[in-house]
Amino acid sequence: MQHSQLSDARDRFDRRAFCKAGVATAVGLAGASFGSPFAYADLTQEQRDKMTPDEILQQMKAGNERFRSGKPLHRDLMREAQATAKGQYPAAIVFGCVDSRAPAELILDFGIGYIFSGRVAGNVADEDILGSMEFACKAAGSKVVLVMGHTACGAIKGAIDGVQLGNLTALLAKVRPAIEATRYTGERSAKNYEFVDAVARKNVSLTVTNIRERSAVLRDLESTGSIKIAGSMYNLETGVVEFLV
Ligand SMILES: [Zn+2]
Repeated sequence: MQHSQLSDARDRFDRRAFCKAGVATAVGLAGASFGSPFAYADLTQEQRDKMTPDEILQQMKAGNERFRSGKPLHRDLMREAQATAKGQYPAAIVFGCVDSRAPAELILDFGIGYIFSGRVAGNVADEDILGSMEFACKAAGSKVVLVMGHTACGAIKGAIDGVQLGNLTALLAKVRPAIEATRYTGERSAKNYEFVDAVARKNVSLTVTNIRERSAVLRDLESTGSIKIAGSMYNLETGVVEFLV
């Protein structure tokens, strides 16, 4: 099983592309990260330049397909850790919810060093998150910002219910615009999962809009085609990540 997966030519190319995607704009010690069987230092300039934001999104879709079909890539995580210890070249930043059931690396089938991962309950972006995204894209060369909401989100339910609890109160208030902007004619309560998911979806789209409006750095990168900012929804039951591009 391991050998057949390791020898899969397409997967190897995918990994090569990913590994080299960040080389030109690497953070850390350039050239020091290769050494794992999944990292290739022999990729040509031409191959590296082929990686576009759209191709990275395709890699994400392919990874999610592997995850939900029960065929994730074999990984030697310790080797990946050692190979990336002195430098990282992530291709994207994924911004999701803290929910324990929605870990981006697992559901997109990425290893260590492939993506930056930011998580806040309800995936609402404050200036610290925006700064992290700017670091990922402008300083470290990532080419995709993917906002990931998910079904049955507790933060969305809490916001709908008007939960008040310490610092959580202010956090959930940032979800409120999504509730108000959600057009839904049925029961608008946290007990109605269809409504909860509709709000979560709207919340993703508002977060994407928010990123573009509040980050001139990311907006400029996107306007020149250097990066793509996209939304997505992860379904807890099916394992499917739906890309809202
Ligand atoms: Zn959540």
